[in-house]
Order: sequence, then structure tokens, then C-alpha cells
Amino acid sequence: MCRWAGLTILMKGETSSSIMSNPSLNNDDIRAKFVPSNSKYLDIELTSNETLICYEISILSVRKSECENEITVDEVVVRGEDTVVIRCGSEIIPGSEGDGKGLLSCRFKVMSAQESLHKQLKIFLDPEHAKCCICLNVWHDVVTVAPCLHNFCNGCFSEWLRRSQEKHSSVLCPQCRAVVQFVGRNHFLHSIEEDILKGDVSLKRSSEEIAVLDSYASIKSPLVINIGKGSHRKRLRSPPEESSLELACPQCGTEFAGYRCNPSTVHLQCHSCGGMMPSRMSVAVPQHCLGCDRAFCGAYWHAHGVTRSDSHPVCSTETFKPIIERTTTRMPFWVHEKNRHEQDITENCIRQMGRTLQDVISEWLMKMNNREIDRTRMPLNHAEMITPQTHTCTDCYDKLVSFLLYWFRITMPKHFLSPEASQREDCWYGYACRTQHRDEEHALKRNHVCRPTRGSHM
Ligand SMILES: [Zn+2]
Ligand SMILES: [Zn+2]
Ligand SMILES: [Zn+2]
Ligand SMILES: [Zn+2]
Ligand SMILES: [Zn+2]
Ligand SMILES: [Zn+2]
Repeated sequence: MCRWAGLTILMKGETSSSIMSNPSLNNDDIRAKFVPSNSKYLDIELTSNETLICYEISILSVRKSECENEITVDEVVVRGEDTVVIRCGSEIIPGSEGDGKGLLSCRFKVMSAQESLHKQLKIFLDPEHAKCCICLNVWHDVVTVAPCLHNFCNGCFSEWLRRSQEKHSSVLCPQCRAVVQFVGRNHFLHSIEEDILKGDVSLKRSSEEIAVLDSYASIKSPLVINIGKGSHRKRLRSPPEESSLELACPQCGTEFAGYRCNPSTVHLQCHSCGGMMPSRMSVAVPQHCLGCDRAFCGAYWHAHGVTRSDSHPVCSTETFKPIIERTTTRMPFWVHEKNRHEQDITENCIRQMGRTLQDVISEWLMKMNNREIDRTRMPLNHAEMITPQTHTCTDCYDKLVSFLLYWFRITMPKHFLSPEASQREDCWYGYACRTQHRDEEHALKRNHVCRPTRGSHM
């Protein structure tokens, strides 16, 4: 319970609560705050050792006749023993409308999950089990091979793979000698690798060692290895038509643009169509999307004059092409954190200005290319390397468009907005607000195309 301006705030938890405002608790236990509008006053912190799902505020009748017995929560006057649910961001003013003037109002803030609800599971593990058998260190950028499921550093295994290919021999697992058919980065083990090194810094390698290792690392997206081996040998005896189905990709059986796969060729699997293409370091045409590091085959086959195949999946160029060659006619789903109201507002603005969506995107793409906008929040990998000529997949393009439309909106003069839209106050949590996805009314009432001024996303 927290006493404030003659009010009692009962905090309701998931179970019956033992919530106390206890000064001996440390900061981690703070679950919510009242943030006064006047920054001279300290925040009122509410603590709990339980997960809080809602808050209830009621008034203890201290002096029944006086107006301190009233408060206004989000423009609703609360009297006597009334209760009202206050949410994150609710504005609380002592007294009812008018007589609260000059008194301190405040906002209610629920600490975000990162700040309060984030519970970490403690597990115990022996770092010996997280070591690469090639370099004998804790994995760095760990990759897993299949079917034996042993793990190595990306750099170590990449080097092993390169040497096996040089010798035109099968790729065998360095640990158990099983034939490797597949290798890919293991994101879950990667987080464990990071935790181990955080837990014991003495296990960390020097930055020079890491740089060398990273320079060897060639596995970005999953690689398919040794796939058509048996069929290549069979091919010598049987006609190519019969065995083509067993070949990994269209280039395994037929030469295109002076290249044909050989038995030790490593293949990449296209994220869009599931088809294979040879992994080739030396070709100019990109095989990975820079924004997400996933493999896409559209540009590769297009450059080799392969537009379709009867035996293998092949993408059209649409799935993977340069940003500048794409056109946008409809607002991507991701724009403004998927908030439909904000998307409508932006669409209306563009219409009001007599412009098209494509025209706005082209303008902001140029501004991005001229380094006029900060790329910190660009939701793509290698953000600093992206140019209008970069090949991206459709998802990454849509994310880029969302990023550009954010900049379009926040830099737009207010008079282009409709009066209803321009009069809205900014939500304190800005684009990071989670209430905008749950509470229709809140999404309508506050602007969410803005930077957070509260919370952990600042
Ligand atoms: Zn290693
Ligand atoms: Zn193995
Ligand atoms: Zn092939
Ligand atoms: Zn991508
Ligand atoms: Zn494809
Ligand atoms: Zn909000």
C-alpha cells in the first residue's frame, strides 16, 4: 500500500498480495512509480515482490466533506470509496476538475518487463562442454553440424570446410568423423557462449585472436554439404534426366555461365523457395540479404540466365533485388510498429500533400543515402553498409520502408496532420509503447510516432 495525498493505493497482484512500500527493498523490487508532473518532486515508488497485473486506486475517507476526497484519473472523477483502475501512463490529478489547479498532478508508470518482470533462469554448466575441439577455446560464433550435432567456432569450422573442399574430400565432423551434411549458426548456443564469457572473463580470447577467427568465418546462413555425392557418381552411368532429381541444384547437372557444381560444392538453401544454389565466394552477384544474412537465390539464378527449372525450386527476381528497383504501392504491415491508426494518419498526410507513397520513400531513401538520417534504429543487420543498390529480401525492404516512414512522420510539419491527429499528446513510451497494441482507445488518443521519453527504451 502507498499513501499519497490522502489516498490509499491498493496494488492487486496475480495472487493475494503482500505488497508493501518497503524502503529496505532494493531498486529491483520497484514495480511501479508515480511520476509527479513537477520534476522538483521525487517519484513515488511502489514496490512488490510479486508480478502485478493491474492497479486499483481507492480513496480512504479521511475528511468526507472536503474535496481532497476526490481525485481525477484520466478525466474521470473518483469519489469516496469508488475504485478505478489506473493504467500505465494514467494521469492523476488531486481533486475534481477545476479545484485540482495548482496541486501536484502525476502520472502512473508501470516499470517495463525489462525493468521488473524479467526473470532469469539460473542454470549451471561446465564451460568444458562449451569448447570447440579445433581450437580448444569456448566457442566463438558457434555453428552446429548435422546429423551428428557437434559444435565449433564459425571460423574454425569454416577453415576446416575450406581445406576439405581443397582436397575434394567429403567434409567430416572434426570431432566424430561423421559425414557432415549440413552446418548452420546456432543462435541459442550463441547466447550461452556469451553468458559463459560474461560469467568468466578469463575464458575470453584477445580481440586480435577474435579478429583472425572472424576473418575465417564464412558461414552466414545454413550450408548444405555433400548432398549430391552419391548421385554424381551414379550420373556417370545413368542418363542425366533420371538423376537430375537427386542433384542439389540446377547447376549440379548443367553448366551455366561457365560454372558447374562439383562433388565437393557446398550449397546454400534459399530462404524464400527452399531451393539450393552453390555457395560461391567469388561471384559478384549477392547470395545473402545484407539486412538479415539469410540466403536468397533470385539474384543468383537471374544472373546465370536460369529463370525456371523443372526439377528444382528457383525464385523469381522479385524475392531478392536492389532496394532502388523496388516499388511500394501499399503500406507495409510493419510501419509504425504495426499501429493501424498511425499508418492511416501517415497515408492521409501523403494524400493531403498530393504525393504517392513511392515518391515519399524515394525521397527518404536518398536522404538516408546522403547520411542525413541517423541509422541507429534501422532494424537491419549491417545498417551502415546499406545503400539504394543493396540487394535485400522483401522482409528487409519492408522494414527499411518502415524506418524511412518513421523519419518522414517525425520530421513532417504539424500542419499536414489532421487537427485530431496533431492535437494528440505524445505517449511517454513513444514507439516502444506496448499499450498501443492492446488498448484501442489509448492508440487513438496518443501519438506513438515519437521517441520514448520514459522507460527503458530511451
Ligand atoms: Zn574453435
Ligand atoms: Zn560430430
Ligand atoms: Zn549445385
Ligand atoms: Zn533480408
Ligand atoms: Zn529461392
Ligand atoms: Zn502509449
